[in-house]
Amino acid sequence: MALVVQKYGGTSVGSTERIAAVAEKVMATRSQGHDVIVVVSAMSGETNRLVALANSIADPPNAREFDVLLATGEQVTISLLSMALEARGCRARSYTGAQVHILTDNVHTKARILEIDDQRIRADLAQGRVVVVAGFQGIDAEGNITTLGRGGSDTTAVALAAALNGSECQIYTDVDGVYTTDPRVVPDARRLDKMCFEEMLEMASLGSKVLQIRSVEFASKYNVPLRVLSSFIEGPGTLIAPEDETMEQALISGIAFNRDEAKLTRVGVEDKPGIAAHILGHIADANIEVDMIVQNVGADGTTDFTFTVHRNDYQNAFSILENHVKALGSGEVRGDEHIVKISLVGVGMRSHAGIASTMFKALADEGINIQMISTSEIKISVVVHEKYLELGVRTLHAAFGLEQAA
Ligand code: ADP
Ligand code: ASP
Ligand code: MG
Repeated sequence: MALVVQKYGGTSVGSTERIAAVAEKVMATRSQGHDVIVVVSAMSGETNRLVALANSIADPPNAREFDVLLATGEQVTISLLSMALEARGCRARSYTGAQVHILTDNVHTKARILEIDDQRIRADLAQGRVVVVAGFQGIDAEGNITTLGRGGSDTTAVALAAALNGSECQIYTDVDGVYTTDPRVVPDARRLDKMCFEEMLEMASLGSKVLQIRSVEFASKYNVPLRVLSSFIEGPGTLIAPEDETMEQALISGIAFNRDEAKLTRVGVEDKPGIAAHILGHIADANIEVDMIVQNVGADGTTDFTFTVHRNDYQNAFSILENHVKALGSGEVRGDEHIVKISLVGVGMRSHAGIASTMFKALADEGINIQMISTSEIKISVVVHEKYLELGVRTLHAAFGLEQAA
């Protein structure tokens, strides 16, 4: 008998009818002879509602209390689902993250899972129960409630699958798999049957919010096969597993985009050793993560230094650079919050030249100006004005022939 971990996202548990439907799906898996651990998110919209409540009472809200509040969303769904299962004659028990000792570090709102104590869960499974665990939450070494960052229920599910040696971690959501790009932006995007961890990691880290990036990191590290499926319609979904020869060797497997970035430029810095370290040192001291970095070669002994950060960190980073300018008594800071990053991802890129030029030409033909470029072995990213997001993604999707066969 195999152990299966199933995770149901917000829309999949968005009403009591949906929760009842999830109970039926869980029971169908049980009746195939599997042990089942279910991880659920808060009902759709609930986490956003809680965030808004907190922000309306304090700015910024105390981080510890923010986590106490946010963790309540998932507690509602674990109990409702367990009630639905029990009412149907299926023995079940719900647990919060703390009750099953999902131990995390103490970084409130983006904690990382360190350890899971599997004893209680194993005992319940051995007694024939379905175990329902609240996603997105844990507890730190001092007993404080923590949360894992938005989308964190995916990571709870994979961490449980890894800790308990699950045969597969199934992520049930409102799309029937991972697509070549977000089907909300490109309606004729194509569902992928299989992807390797590396591709999904790139897609997630470049902005595809279908899976939280930490969950893919965990799955890859502990070799847990992940499957993304719809809780609304039947189908095979998308299997995400180690790279193997049966995988489609597509040149480009997908297009990811990120609307959450902003760009900053420190204009007119001296072109000499130590400048980049100096500017980014101040940014790092403020705990701001930097994504893309570009430094131009200046003709007059000065240069422009440009980088991107999360939009939430934009104002803070801008002030840091302004202070830097004031301290030096020269130069200037420019910023732009209206940018997006569009990325092509594919392991096939490793062995093919010419992808970048095809990408740049397709964007140029639509009059889309590229502001920044960055590449790695299996991805190419460009920064463009946010008004070009949809046009850019659709153009590239067509240029690389990613659409469904007619
Ligand atoms: P859940 O609440 O179930 O966790 P999410 O909203 O987090 O669901 O993730 C599912 C959504 O991810 C889809 O509705 C879709 O709009 C979006 N998405 C973004 N990129 C992709 C992609 N490449 N393939 C499929 N879905 C994607
Ligand atoms: N409820 C949390 C969120 O909305 C966690 C999750 O759904 O994965 O981000
Ligand atoms: Mg999600």
